Amino acid sequence: MTNTTPAIGDMPPDDFRRYGHQLVDWIADFFERIDDVPVTASMPPGELRTRLPRAAPSMGEAMDTILADIDRVIMPAMTHWNHPANFAYFNSSGSSPGILGEMLTAAFNVNCMTWQSCPAGTELERVTLDWLRDSLGLPSDLWGIIYDTASSASMHAIAAAREQAAGLNVREQGLCGRPEVPRLRLYSSEQAHMSIDKGALTCGIGTKGIRKIPLDESFRMRPELLQQAITQDRSDGWLPFCVVATVGTTSTTAIDPVPEIARICQQEGIWLHVDAAHGGIAAIEPGMRHVLDGCEHADSIVVNPHKWMFVPIDLSAFYTRRPDVLKRAFSLVPDYLKSEHDTEVENYMEYGVPLGRRFRALKLWFVLRYFGAEGLAQRIREHFRLAGMFADWVEEHADFEQLAPVPLTTVCFRAHPRGVDADEQLNSINDRLMNAVNASGRMFITQTKLNGVTVLRLVVSHLRTEEVHVRGAWQLLQDKLDDLMALQ
Ligand SMILES: *Cc1c(COP(=O)(O)O)cnc(C)c1O
Repeated sequence: MTNTTPAIGDMPPDDFRRYGHQLVDWIADFFERIDDVPVTASMPPGELRTRLPRAAPSMGEAMDTILADIDRVIMPAMTHWNHPANFAYFNSSGSSPGILGEMLTAAFNVNCMTWQSCPAGTELERVTLDWLRDSLGLPSDLWGIIYDTASSASMHAIAAAREQAAGLNVREQGLCGRPEVPRLRLYSSEQAHMSIDKGALTCGIGTKGIRKIPLDESFRMRPELLQQAITQDRSDGWLPFCVVATVGTTSTTAIDPVPEIARICQQEGIWLHVDAAHGGIAAIEPGMRHVLDGCEHADSIVVNPHKWMFVPIDLSAFYTRRPDVLKRAFSLVPDYLKSEHDTEVENYMEYGVPLGRRFRALKLWFVLRYFGAEGLAQRIREHFRLAGMFADWVEEHADFEQLAPVPLTTVCFRAHPRGVDADEQLNSINDRLMNAVNASGRMFITQTKLNGVTVLRLVVSHLRTEEVHVRGAWQLLQDKLDDLMALQ
């Protein structure tokens, strides 16, 4: 059956119904047979472009033709994030209720810039963020806003910290060409996410304004060295204005000692931002609430429901006890966006860079309601069980070893075959091992470096991952290592 594009206006509703059903069927089939779909792309770089025309069509094409190209062109070039054997990065999995929420968001296509521009958008954002905050055990005086990513959220935190910094009036005067303004200093651990550096760069802090605090043996920030750095910087004429602590660092999921860091920040009058993008979500499991210890004293915190809470990308939840500062940093209200309700409502556009804001709260609402806080906690508990199992296997195997503690559900490990002890050789074996398992299309992991050593990371945080997938990954790692060593 082929449709024709009408001369004017949208696709007729009956065609939408037909192709909508067809696409939903395609998605349901995809999930049903996902174990048989390769998790990594089989297409070489540049190949996709050669399969597509050089210019957009001048006449509309049939929807059947467009949908057929999903299988023909797109699927072979997909690395599947919704695949249960995706153990790479901090994998994010989008759940079906979340996908339905996204569908409705696109159907409404509202712009949640002000209350008036879509009251449901603003009010549901408030309600769902309060629900999430309470489910994580965070204090009720935290005010929330949704940004696209944790990177944006942290950039806004740094901008608020800068706005707050003693009498600088950066909003009006800027930072340059002011001899009376000291250099600003931001502190994070050596293992902080690079988005913190990017946020600082965006805010005019410069790489020299970022001071990385060394780590303890578990890759956590050392608070006594933070204190020393602040004291030394003050006496050298710097103005310390922001500390970023991480709950769940990207390489090893280390959890910085936030209670001690918070005490220092309070004494020193420095803004504390907690980057809990991945790790903070663990607190939805009541037994893991302690990962957010100390965050009740933070000025701001970010967690990503789009990472470990099965909300499709993108949705990052940012909380602060100082929305007034955030607003002072970013509020600009042009005449054409004013309304009669402005004194009684919240206009989220005043709290950040983007004016246009998608109705993201819908998918968060769907996910929180469909699974419930307990349902989410149950899934996270299972991730802890599976990661613990994998960590034990690694620990017990004579040719593998763990390279970092496992506070959450990310296992940092490497192959260390008997008789091979030079780090350079081990790095090369592990690079090849990772490439071999990934090339199989049956699992996907990524690597990092710790103290110059190649470390493989296996992250269990995927909605669809079951024990069989973790067992399969472990078997494949052993088999591929055997193959590699046989070739030596
Ligand atoms: C993933 C992650 C980020 C970046 O998140 P985005 O939403 O992709 O910007 C920042 N910090 C930490 C600790 C993360 O795990």
